[in-house]
Amino acid sequence: MPISSKHPETLAVHAGFREAAGTHSVAVPIHQTTSYQFESTEHAANLFALKELGNIYSRIMNPTNDAFEQRAAALEGGVAALAVASGQAASTYCVMNLCEAGDNFITSTDLYGGTWNLFANTLRQMGVEARFVDPSDPEAFRNAVDERTRLIYAETLPNPKLNVFPIAEVAAIGRELGIPLIVDNTAAPVICKPLELGAAVVMYSATKYMGGHGTSIGGLVVDGGNFDWEAWGDRFPTLNTPDRSYHGAVWTEAVKPLGPIAYILRMRVILLRDLGAALSPFNAFQLIQGVETLPLRMRQHCENAILVARFLRDHPKVTRVIHPSLQDGEARRRADSTLRGGYGALVGFELEDGAEAGRRFIEALELFYHVANIGDARSLAIHPATTTHSQLSVEDQLASGVSPGYVRLSIGIEHPDDIIADLSQALEKV
Ligand code: PLP
Repeated sequence: MPISSKHPETLAVHAGFREAAGTHSVAVPIHQTTSYQFESTEHAANLFALKELGNIYSRIMNPTNDAFEQRAAALEGGVAALAVASGQAASTYCVMNLCEAGDNFITSTDLYGGTWNLFANTLRQMGVEARFVDPSDPEAFRNAVDERTRLIYAETLPNPKLNVFPIAEVAAIGRELGIPLIVDNTAAPVICKPLELGAAVVMYSATKYMGGHGTSIGGLVVDGGNFDWEAWGDRFPTLNTPDRSYHGAVWTEAVKPLGPIAYILRMRVILLRDLGAALSPFNAFQLIQGVETLPLRMRQHCENAILVARFLRDHPKVTRVIHPSLQDGEARRRADSTLRGGYGALVGFELEDGAEAGRRFIEALELFYHVANIGDARSLAIHPATTTHSQLSVEDQLASGVSPGYVRLSIGIEHPDDIIADLSQALEKV
């Protein structure tokens, strides 16, 4: 039964699955199977020829993953989604689906470190050039484009700077030039809808807020179905020219009976087929359990984060607090025009006495976990200068927004009084 609601709370529980045929199971079953029996030789031939869509082999599709994908697509307002084994696999596929050796793409400089490495080193080794652009000036994206530019990539709410990316402005520039904006919305699910702001594709590390329970690594790509790949035919040879590895299929043609899903269908039947970063159905099941409470959790995460940001702002040992709720000027205008119903739950702050104070603070925490992760239901903390950013020179740390006394918090859904009490007692020990 299709769900007509547009409310995320309802979609998170209902979209993509009603009951299992045959058993009437209300929970999405875990289809722990590698393969699927064909009904006939004709059926098998039709599936391989994409005349009919259906299950062939779990590296490429699986009914549990399908429920997760449909739910994610509905929540995002997209036409279809692909679940993969990790956020890293999702961002890799997002680029490789459009770029061949010799091509380039433009990316915001404000990125998760793993994505930065992938773009600056691993993809470069494959002949794909990432052009890094400071997101404070949207026009800079236009200036970096040439005829081999295939996409623009950015994160909605990148830490540690926590400056919200100007999605609407850059998506509009991209659309003028025939270049899609792909947004990593990992830190802002539900509170940001990049597709409504003009992005063409949204990706997630589902490991974070989507799951929320911290049990499963996973990634997601959602196709907005809102980008005309055919109108800019020369820019997208992977979608508009015969694909040698699929009987000469031209993806923008092949999908005509199926809807505007050329981008995500190619990612599934070429990249997932060949590179194989498949999400296990067990992890898809776990992530579905998380998504059911995602809108509720995001509300609590965001409310708690505002209270924490205010507490830290008023604390004498804290010299600076980084959270969109405390920004003003252009940064605040961007946050308010891009986010709805919350400013996210990542909070940065700086301690006067630098790295030593940061270390003492982390060691004094009792409720917070000290981990290299974000988006868990539990509150998390890390001192980037001695961990995630320790391989960088002090100049590069500062350029990426990390001072020696910077602490990153990922605020959980515990009672705010308990979160603040833990921060307060740890600050006493600094
Ligand atoms: N994107 C962002 C914003 C992240 O924070 C992360 C992981 O920390 C990733 C992508 C990579 O996701 P995963 O760890 O699921 O591979």
